[in-house]
Amino acid sequence: MIGKEEFWDDVKNELSKTMQTISYDMWIEPLEPVCFVDSTFVLAAKTAISKKTIERSYLDQIKEVVNSLDSFVTDVEIIVKEQEGEYLKKQSDSLPDRGLIVDEKHAKKQEKSNPFLEKYSFDTFVQGKSNEYALAAAKTVAENPGGNYNPLFIYSGVGLGKTHLLHAIGNYLFKKSPKTKVVYANSETMINELISVIRGGNNEESNRFREKYRACDVLMIDDIQFLSGKEATQEAFFHIFNDLYQSNKQIIITSDRSPKDLPTLEERLRTRFSWGLSVDIQPPDMETRVAILKMKAAHEKFNLSDDVAEFIAENATTNIRDMEGLLNKIIFFSSLANRVIDTKELAYDALRDFIDEKKDTLDAEDIVSTVCRYFGITTTDIFSKKKTKNIVEPRMIAIYLITDLLSMPLISIGQMFGGRDHTTIIHARDKISEEIKSNPRIKIIVADLKNMLLNR
Ligand code: ADP
Ligand code: MG
Repeated sequence: MIGKEEFWDDVKNELSKTMQTISYDMWIEPLEPVCFVDSTFVLAAKTAISKKTIERSYLDQIKEVVNSLDSFVTDVEIIVKEQEGEYLKKQSDSLPDRGLIVDEKHAKKQEKSNPFLEKYSFDTFVQGKSNEYALAAAKTVAENPGGNYNPLFIYSGVGLGKTHLLHAIGNYLFKKSPKTKVVYANSETMINELISVIRGGNNEESNRFREKYRACDVLMIDDIQFLSGKEATQEAFFHIFNDLYQSNKQIIITSDRSPKDLPTLEERLRTRFSWGLSVDIQPPDMETRVAILKMKAAHEKFNLSDDVAEFIAENATTNIRDMEGLLNKIIFFSSLANRVIDTKELAYDALRDFIDEKKDTLDAEDIVSTVCRYFGITTTDIFSKKKTKNIVEPRMIAIYLITDLLSMPLISIGQMFGGRDHTTIIHARDKISEEIKSNPRIKIIVADLKNMLLNR
């Protein structure tokens, strides 16, 4: 189990990717990890003022990241550094290890605190043609878990609302039937937990894992695609799935593609996913995009003009998170300049650097790490001389993507891949371009990866 410092480093790393540098440096960087109390991660702020600002503006975001990195940790508390000693003394009689999700203390706590982000509710989810089926299915399941739509499988590209819908179901159940035990995990968390079960090799940890996932009424697994190629976790999940399904417990799964397009997921899991209902979310049309922006702006009490809403909707990728990012920048710059950015021209000036930034920042390392993650292999393997199929194919695909998306000299690519000759690079590139035409599996994989890389 990793320590608080290491965990906090991981959290900061994630936050730094999404937050504006100014706010990150000012508010997040100075925080210090204090301890874990049950499922709460406690952080210390330097002053009472910074504690207040963080609680008001960043706590939700910190919670979200903390929870996505470790689903056992559902809450974050900020204290003032000065009071750290006092705080620790108060806790010191029983400072349990973190992760004790199934002990009694936690069970009691679950009843009180809602682990779902309240901002992700059905009320804040804007309905449009692109998402109406997914929304209706999510509402039906929230109303009647374990009913007809089991499992519910929701798939879409990134940033189109899957996680939002899971939280909305969670929030709804938390209010309507607080006794219902809902477990949310993304598949990466599940993989990490299982790795620590296997490493630890003790029964206690493995019981805890099993209990957590089997003793629930509703199980949500977010981003199941990361289970691709992770056989041990798929095996564990398969058994959990069967147990829950047989006892009519609701299972909800999200993924970045449909079950049949999950090329490296075991057939038996894919079959099970098709027992229930699969719905997709399409990229929103212009009207829905503008409506989402308007709602988010109203939530921030920012007066968003039609012009600027349209400008953002036209210039962001289809990823809604990107749209929100641009909106936040508009809000931020408006407050800096003390004047509302309300015309397309002003919006263009404010956002110019961000709109084209995406492509410029993509580099070969991003491509390699995304490909490795997709196939569940390590970067050491991909750069090695290994010739097994499960390494060769990802390697060639990574090379193809680098040649396709970047203008990097072939010789440098060769060097990056363990000193390979540039003819080897040409061979890999041409082989994959041919395969894309003749092999539907490769075509899907390449399209997926491009989508992941360009919609980051
Ligand atoms: P995904 O899990 O599909 O990658 P998220 O659920 O994280 O996407 O959504 C990304 C962002 O877009 C979130 O802030 C979410 O609130 C917002 N969002 C997505 N769809 C909608 C919608 N229909 N209405 C309002 N906000 C939305
Ligand atoms: Mg998500």
